[in-house]
Amino acid sequence: MPANLFSEIEYLKGVGKARGEKYRKLGINSPYELIYHIPRAYLDFRTHVPVAQAVLNEYNVLKLTVFRKLPPQRIRGGLVICKAAASDGINDILIVVYNNVYYFQALKEGGTYYMYGKVTGNFLRKEISSPVYISAEQTVLIQPVYHLTQGLSVNMVRNNMRQALDLMHKEPFETLPGDILRRYELCPLMDALENIHFPSSDMAAETARRRLAFDELLKLQLGMSMMKTRSRRTTACKMDPSVSAVPFIEGLPFELTGDQEKAVSEIISDLCKDVPMNRLLQGDVGSGKTAVAAAACYFTAKNGAQAALMAPTEILAAQHYRTLSGFLEPFGVRVCLLTGSLTAKKKAALREQIASGEADVIVGTHAIIQKDVEYRRLALVITDEQHRFGVAQRAALAEKGDSPHKLVMSATPIPRTLALIIYGDLDISAITQLPAGRKPIKTYAVTGKLRSRAFGFVRERIAEGRQAYVVCPMIEESESELFAVKTYAENAASGDLKGCTMALLHGKMSAAEKDRTMKRFRDGEIQVLICTTVVEVGVDVPNAAVMVIENAERFGLSQLHQLRGRVGRGEYESSCILITDNTSEDCVKRMKIMSSTADGFKISEEDLKMRGPGDFFGSAQHGLPPLKIADIACNMELMTKAQNCARELLSADPELKRPENAALKMDVMRLFNKDIIG
Ligand code: ADP
Ligand code: MG
Repeated sequence: MPANLFSEIEYLKGVGKARGEKYRKLGINSPYELIYHIPRAYLDFRTHVPVAQAVLNEYNVLKLTVFRKLPPQRIRGGLVICKAAASDGINDILIVVYNNVYYFQALKEGGTYYMYGKVTGNFLRKEISSPVYISAEQTVLIQPVYHLTQGLSVNMVRNNMRQALDLMHKEPFETLPGDILRRYELCPLMDALENIHFPSSDMAAETARRRLAFDELLKLQLGMSMMKTRSRRTTACKMDPSVSAVPFIEGLPFELTGDQEKAVSEIISDLCKDVPMNRLLQGDVGSGKTAVAAAACYFTAKNGAQAALMAPTEILAAQHYRTLSGFLEPFGVRVCLLTGSLTAKKKAALREQIASGEADVIVGTHAIIQKDVEYRRLALVITDEQHRFGVAQRAALAEKGDSPHKLVMSATPIPRTLALIIYGDLDISAITQLPAGRKPIKTYAVTGKLRSRAFGFVRERIAEGRQAYVVCPMIEESESELFAVKTYAENAASGDLKGCTMALLHGKMSAAEKDRTMKRFRDGEIQVLICTTVVEVGVDVPNAAVMVIENAERFGLSQLHQLRGRVGRGEYESSCILITDNTSEDCVKRMKIMSSTADGFKISEEDLKMRGPGDFFGSAQHGLPPLKIADIACNMELMTKAQNCARELLSADPELKRPENAALKMDVMRLFNKDIIG
């Protein structure tokens, strides 16, 4: 690869120190990185209209000849307005440019341009303000539009891009073998990079996008697989299969479901290997993942080693602590809870117990795997609600102790096809069935008109001794979360929920306040918990039997499913009421799916069908490296192809060590943090 494609961005003409800084702000350090600054859209100058047909107050493309430039006018506040008279040959229009003399100067009297800008005025007198323009002599009529930063104009970026691309064409390169390109129907990389910026047609742009999205998904797959390979070094904690988990399983107050049993045996078999376990345990809320985790902790403790269980919040950590100590203490397994809210003295005492091995199972937030916590023999690390821990954290964990075994639990099941990609570095166990005897949650979607009736039902259930969650309506941008939740609660207290004891739970509360409120709710002192989505994460109150969700349209299927999972955790019949006035096809469909099934795997399958995998990559939740192209361009078909291709490449060259794979490997390292794979 030519050296200067990777030299400093200042290497490009017209890029000095100042502009270089702007580029760095966008994460662009070299011409190469500039080329991977993919357009967010295109301006299509092929579709220009005559002035007479311009839609007022909208953006239009016009082809105009400038016939007279007026002298700049200085107005108050140092603002400069530049104007020029122009014509499309039939009608005149005024070009107005605010505060950008430089840009205005580039326009030549007598020159003809394609201009894109907002057209205002009336039938007789029209203006186009601060238009983006290109010379009519230009043959490239589809122009890229980029994410910019203050002081960096689209024209500058385009010029620099042209230079960077020319530089690239001088010494072309390709990351994939020709045979793969042919079989996966991909265009050459040089064509893709040229056409993603300056496509000659929509088709050319599409073909380019497909290749680049494929590359990105491929790199993701390769990186994940390499992480997996890398984590297969020996662990210090190869456990003894003759230690039995049977006493624990037989001591449970219930019989494990088939899936739970299978998961336990998969985990125990992993723990007895000399390579660290890297396993994902997925299953709906209430499917009994915690019991499986407890079995793994039991097995670990009986092997004379320690297990750590991390939850994303202190509320959840406390809940897990209660559950695990209930399960494990009778067998002499000592469980402790280490959280940030403890006094320094208590923390120090706990640390001592962890270091001496007096504590077998340590529950807490991710603080428990920080450097200052020393374990006597940490052999198993379990993380709950996995989607909040990213790939990088997963990798960091591997560094703790002597490569502990790792189990991640997720209550947001995703279809296997997607899981294999997103959790490419993990093996997967799934609990697809709920324990027998669970009463299904009845779900109703209603409009705001029926709100009073819905709350009438809520009051009835409360009168029967049950409790309810109400997820607060959408927050206006102008309001604070606190204001919204307070106002809502006040209105409810004098209206729909008159006479009920209520409390608020929202993100502005401290961890201690939240804990206190949750405790009161769990103890039954509070009948209705008015909350924002902080309640989303695995809180367990068996007596809560009603979930009301206001503005249900603002949640995706998976999130609605998560929220609904807060109820139906006890012996009582539970209900979920979704309130929305949104009648869009998409929303109606979501409500229908929610009312018709409670199976998280099915729901996520539907979610995937409705939104496509791209949407998933677009959200920050998965903790994957940021993808630039795949989030808008990928589909299941492309994803499966990328996966097959990764498999093919790695089976021939597992660590991508061959010279022909060097460029590809470098790209993989660039996408991931080098340390993860290296
Ligand atoms: P998850 O962590 O998957 O959300 P939990 O482990 O918290 O689910 O289980 C939910 C509830 O179901 C708990 O009260 C648990 O004791 C109970 N439970 C778990 N497994 C079974 C089972 N096989 N049969 C009956 N109840 C079960
Ligand atoms: Mg749970």
